[in-house]
Amino acid sequence: MRKYSFPILILAIFETVAVSLWLTKDNLFYLFNFSYIGLSISLGCFLFIRKYKHARRLVQLLVGLYMLVYLGLICGENMQIEGFWYYLFTGVFEAATIHYAVAKIFGPLIFGRGWCGYACWTAMVLDFLPYKTPKGERKKIGWIRYITFALSLIFVSALFLAKVGNIERIMFWAFIIGNVLYYAVGIILAFAFKDNRAFCKYICPITVFLKPMSYFSFIRVKCDKEKCISCGKCKRICPMEVDVTDNSRNRKNGTECILCMECVNNCPKHAL
Ligand code: SF4
Ligand code: SF4
Ligand code: SF4
Repeated sequence: MRKYSFPILILAIFETVAVSLWLTKDNLFYLFNFSYIGLSISLGCFLFIRKYKHARRLVQLLVGLYMLVYLGLICGENMQIEGFWYYLFTGVFEAATIHYAVAKIFGPLIFGRGWCGYACWTAMVLDFLPYKTPKGERKKIGWIRYITFALSLIFVSALFLAKVGNIERIMFWAFIIGNVLYYAVGIILAFAFKDNRAFCKYICPITVFLKPMSYFSFIRVKCDKEKCISCGKCKRICPMEVDVTDNSRNRKNGTECILCMECVNNCPKHAL
């Protein structure tokens, strides 16, 4: 049973959040929402321990589709960064703000960029593309993320400043159009740079939150130097080009790690 302590811990953390929010907000939705996500993630961890090779993809689909289809399209919730700004400006600590606080701002202090590996509905589609490990050199265009971040903030601020009516409806359409744009740009970049995760590396505005917070992540992949034979396989297979054999926090591309565990699964010496 001890080897299953991690999925049990994950489930316990999510259940704590679920019950706390349910009771403090007096809203049963939070119990359902966080229980579902916690169960999906702990199921993935359980299957990973059982060496099921599609465990991560299964979680990605369970959580990503739930957020995109149920929360986004059916419930009309803008879960993208514009939705976060919108709810923040209205002073409502609900849906998108809670989602950002848990998954993308404070959560990464514990589970790093686990969101990017196991839950993001944009990457859920991009990970089906053919370039699972990047084929070319990394580009020096990561600054684009600050532009997309600023544009999202300017867009929502302008709606408030102009006192536009029915912003809720605009947010719903912004969610749909924003996602179509993300998918289109993400797919084009993946083929142009021969890298499924090019969008994540250069464009995604959410990394402005994710990267600094995940620097301090409690959960990290570490290398046992006693076992490592410096074969380099982990670095060749990493979709985010992380120098995972360096155990320091400022290792190369360290804040890019999405905890996909490809390096762990492929290390011939079980050093990770
Ligand atoms: S970097 Fe952005 S698009 Fe990529 S997985 Fe993370 S949140 Fe999703
Ligand atoms: S794959 Fe394993 S043995 Fe090879 S360099 Fe990476 S950690 Fe070391
Ligand atoms: S392969 Fe390893 S270092 Fe690279 S993103 Fe996945 S877990 Fe992180």
